Amino acid sequence: MKPAVHRNTKITVNTKAIEQNVLNRVALLEPNQELFAVVKANGYGHGAVETALAAKAGGATGFCVAVLDEALELREAGISDPILVLGISRSEDAVIFAEQQISATISSVDWLLEASKVMMDSGKTLPPLHVHLALDTGMGRIGVRNKRGISLVEKFITSHHEYFALEGVFTHFAKADDEDTAHVEAQLAKFEELVDSFNELPKYVHCSNSAWALWHRPELSSIVRYGVAMYGINPSNGELPLPVALEPALSLTTEMVYVKQLHKGDTISYGATYVCQESEWIATLPIGYADGWLRSYNTLEVLVDGKRCPVAGRICMDQMMIRLPEYYPAGTKVTLIGKSGEDLITAEEVSHHGGTIGYEVVCLLSDRIPREYV
Ligand code: PLP
Repeated sequence: MKPAVHRNTKITVNTKAIEQNVLNRVALLEPNQELFAVVKANGYGHGAVETALAAKAGGATGFCVAVLDEALELREAGISDPILVLGISRSEDAVIFAEQQISATISSVDWLLEASKVMMDSGKTLPPLHVHLALDTGMGRIGVRNKRGISLVEKFITSHHEYFALEGVFTHFAKADDEDTAHVEAQLAKFEELVDSFNELPKYVHCSNSAWALWHRPELSSIVRYGVAMYGINPSNGELPLPVALEPALSLTTEMVYVKQLHKGDTISYGATYVCQESEWIATLPIGYADGWLRSYNTLEVLVDGKRCPVAGRICMDQMMIRLPEYYPAGTKVTLIGKSGEDLITAEEVSHHGGTIGYEVVCLLSDRIPREYV
């Protein structure tokens, strides 16, 4: 989809905020640690390449993505730093991983077996494919769960070192953003037990996402996989106070396209759920759920001239209405995420209205909205 550039709805990404958030985290790392910026899902909606470059300027030495195509997007943009694909990829794409020197996550020896056949059948002379073995210590998503699985992978790689190099081993925590630390500590203990069973440890042994880095012991992780915090969003959605300042990088703004006065009893939007209680100034905004501004956000407020204005009625696919405190002309700026005057609406605040999390709010902002970088 092409961004809608003939409409004054846009995302502005402050790349300096991303750079600074990364810089602040890098300053806390031990000398043998690295920060890999997590730029999957189009950089959490912020734009993958621009975000990656900002993170690199802040000291990131590698990147994490979810799928191979996201890694290729970075390579095509000229980024030659290490990239780890965090999800399980198709073994039939092993040749691309090797040729592009992109690291793959594996969860079983079967993947290596299949990938080795693909590499052999290609008839190409390939550099070794770097892999990170995922360990499932309590997330229940991907990863080997026991020492036997580790031993099978280690043996296979040793006997196929012309095809593979074990570059890393990692786990992912399910509750690093929770006040109750029992689950995350149990996961850590399991991780340490499994890691102890390696004959030879790979270069990277890592377990830290943003929440682990903020509230736990990032020094235990050779790579900090820094995602949501880099964008200035609290991983706990505001439930845990931030130990370091994070500057939100994304703002979402639009302009009123139509302003009118309605009167007591007039109704607004689908379902006619909003009924004017008196004479009210109503503005129509060119943004809706097809932009990722969900229908469930209709208890939300937006900012006009630093003042909070409630959404009026159901959010439509491409438009929505708000109630103004007084008359404003069409063309007046409206802030949906970001600062206006002294006030600020964060992605976390938006998420509370949609029964979701800040991560989802920014990821869902669709490609129809142009992104501008400052
Ligand atoms: N590591 C893995 C394996 C992930 O799946 C993710 C994100 O979902 C991250 C790191 C980054 O997490 P966060 O955005 O909470 O820092």
